[in-house]
Parts: sequence; structure tokens; C-alpha cells
Amino acid sequence: MALRSFKGGVHPYEGKELSKDKPVVRLEPSSELVFPLSQHIGAPAKAVVNVGDTVLRGQVLAEANGFVSAPVISSVSGTVKAIEKRRSCTGSMVESIVISNDNMDSCVSFNEISFEEALKLDRETIIKKISDAGIVGMGGAGFPTHVKLSPKDPDKIEYIIVNCAECEPYLTSDYRTMLEKTDKLYLGLKLLVSLFKNAKGVFAIEDNKRDCISLLSEKCVDDNISVCPLLTKYPQGGERQLIHAVTGRDINSKMLPADAGCIVDNVSTVCAIYDAVVLGKPLMDRFFTVSGDNVVNPQNYEIRIGMSFRDILEASGGEIDKAQKWISGGPMMGFSMFDLDVPTTKTTGAFLSFKEDEASIYDATACINCGRCVNACPENLVPSRLSKFFENKVKDEFEKWYGLECIECGSCTYVCPAKRPLAQEIKTFKHQILAEKKKQKEIGRGN
Ligand code: SF4
Ligand code: SF4
Repeated sequence: MALRSFKGGVHPYEGKELSKDKPVVRLEPSSELVFPLSQHIGAPAKAVVNVGDTVLRGQVLAEANGFVSAPVISSVSGTVKAIEKRRSCTGSMVESIVISNDNMDSCVSFNEISFEEALKLDRETIIKKISDAGIVGMGGAGFPTHVKLSPKDPDKIEYIIVNCAECEPYLTSDYRTMLEKTDKLYLGLKLLVSLFKNAKGVFAIEDNKRDCISLLSEKCVDDNISVCPLLTKYPQGGERQLIHAVTGRDINSKMLPADAGCIVDNVSTVCAIYDAVVLGKPLMDRFFTVSGDNVVNPQNYEIRIGMSFRDILEASGGEIDKAQKWISGGPMMGFSMFDLDVPTTKTTGAFLSFKEDEASIYDATACINCGRCVNACPENLVPSRLSKFFENKVKDEFEKWYGLECIECGSCTYVCPAKRPLAQEIKTFKHQILAEKKKQKEIGRGN
């Protein structure tokens, strides 16, 4: 089996054995669900319900507020209890719609069609269905999918790549999706490929998921969809790394995947596209992993979007000990959390609880110039140097040494024997510089 990959990267402990063989369990929704209006990149959605309104499962709570935006859909039936700022898993306060669940699951009626009928729909109709369903990149990016599927020149798209790498340690919800929704995933990609006359579809899967490689390869017999096995290495699922591994093409921060003839979608996103176009269902539920060495029963769930992290953790039997670290997402690129009474969104696919906070056990010492961070960086950067620019606040040098190209993967921090917080410093400086540039642009426009 020829394995494709990229330069650099690391091999962290996988931790997937905790939950990978646990089939998905459908979780009953909690009594209160919270729907932030901003669960995507772009303009926050605009509420179209009022406090006291009765809502159905599948009903639009907030509509898209512009082209780069996405509607928010209720995952339960009940009553609008409040529209107010609530804390999100990143710690910020976000305007949200709070629904009191009536436990009736009264549902909007969905307009289902056959897959053959779906294939005959025109491009605009399919993209409108995806847009109306509120689908955004469910791997964490949250970019509205209908925008991604509307490149300037659709004929230049040659690859639709399904990101099946799931390279972050501990996460197994994409793995379970591949095993449990194989047909839906395959047909979802077939629909996507039908939108682009020169495109072929590729399932890009790390070779630690050989059962998924076999299952999906069996499906890809007589059309222009194939499986591309990838070397198991972090961050293989990074968009730039994936595009390079599959096509040999490179993009940078100023380019879109479409500039390299590619569209990349996550496994769950492709299944949501099938649900929207064929079953007529909007995005209301998602697969979710609860794991880490401090969780009583690590498990994969199908959750209602809007449930709190605390309710999902309790369904997993709670914690073994007092946690030292909570993470939304994976340990390399996820967010540290300090409050579990915050809602899951379209883009949150995992919660991890750990007995130790490994990142804070050791004190950073002086750089020993070993070069390991340079070898590990998938973007060919010099993290040791970039972190010095951060410490000395030298912005122009940081930019000259391509600091803005950092993808925030954390590989440099992971390998550093001096335990220097390289990625954290580089990420902080990068965001400061980008924020200043944005502000200057707005001043220039007279805003
Ligand atoms: S500098 Fe950025 S891209 Fe390079 S390894 Fe560190 S976090 Fe990853
Ligand atoms: S890995 Fe750490 S110690 Fe080695 S060169 Fe990079 S910053 Fe210095």
C-alpha cells in the first residue's frame, strides 16, 4: 500500500484505543439546550424566534445573515426560554437562543427524495439545500459549506477530498462515522463530485484505520472516487498537509484550497450533505467522542447539537478524579476549558478530561538549539526563532520569517526538550499581528 504524507509532523501517543471500538450510542437530549448564533466563520445568524415561542425539532431558530453565514436549527422541540449572551466553550460570551426541551421531539416534516432524484437536481438547488440546512465545516473550522462549494470557477476543481485522517489523538468519532455510515459517506461524496464536472473524489484515510480503508475501497469500484491511504502522522488532517499528501500541490495562508483545484470536507460534513439533499434534514445532531484518562466510560455518542458538555460527560459516568485539564476537541489543537456548562455546537466533536495537565508539569528552560522544532514543523518554519521574535516583540522579522504561515498545530511544542511554549507564543503573536492588520484596513476604509 503506497502511503502519502507531508514533510515534518510528529507521532504523539494515539489514545484512540479508549473509545475506538465503542459503537455510537444515541444520547437523549437534556432539558435545556443552548444555540449560539455564531457557530461558524462569518456573520452571526439572526434570530427569527422570540422568547416564549414554541419550536419544533428541525425548525430554523436563526437565519443566515449574509452569504458567509449559516442558519441555526433547533435539535429539539420546546419553548424559547431566553435569547441572551451565554458562555461558549472557548470562554467568550456569545448571543444564544436557549430552548427548554418539552421532550416531545415534535418535528418539522422533512422532504425526502431518492438518491437518483438528488443526482438529477441542478447545482444551485443542491447548494441551496446545503445552505438552508445550516451545514458548516464540522471538523472544527466552521466555514459555511455552501460557500466552499461555490468557487469562482467550478470547472477548475479537480479533487473533492474527504478528510478522513482524524490525526488528533483520542478522537474517534470520524472513525466510527466511517464504519457506521459508510454508505451515506460514499453517496455524500458522489453527490459532491456531481457538482464539479472535472472533479474526482478521494477519501484520504490514515493507515491506522485499515478497516475503514477496506470498507470504503469496496465501495469505490466503478466511478471516479477512490481511497488514498496516508501515513499515520500528526497533523496529517491539516488542510494544507492533506492537499499536499493527496495531490502534491501546496497552498499558503493567502490561498484557498480551490486555488489548488481542491475542496476539502470533513467526514461528518459529507454525511450532513447527504442528509440535507436526500433526506431533507438540516444539521441538528452530530457524532461526538468523550475520552481521556479521567473519564469513567470513554464513549462515542450521537448528540443533539446544543447539549452541554456537562450532560454528555455525565452520560459517560462522569470523571474518575478531579480533572487537571478539560479540552474541547483534540489535545493538540483543541481549546482548554474551565466550565462544562457550555453548549456543544456544529463544530465540537469531542470532550477530553485528563488527570494531569502535561503542558504545565514542566517549567520551560533555555533553548538548546537542538533543531527538533524545525524538523517537526509541517510548514517549514523555524519555531525557535519565531518564538524569540515574540519575546522581543519584533513583528517585521516575525513576518519576514513567515510566522503568519503557522497553522497552530502544536508539533513544535510537542517535540521541544526544553518544554518551551513555542506554538502558544507563535499563535499569540500571529493573532496580534493579524488583528492589527485588520484594524488598520478598517481605518483605511474609514470604518
Ligand atoms: S510553528 Fe506553527 S506550524 Fe510550525 S510546528 Fe509550530 S505550531 Fe505547527
Ligand atoms: S526544539 Fe526547543 S530546544 Fe530545540 S531548537 Fe527548538 S526551541 Fe530550541
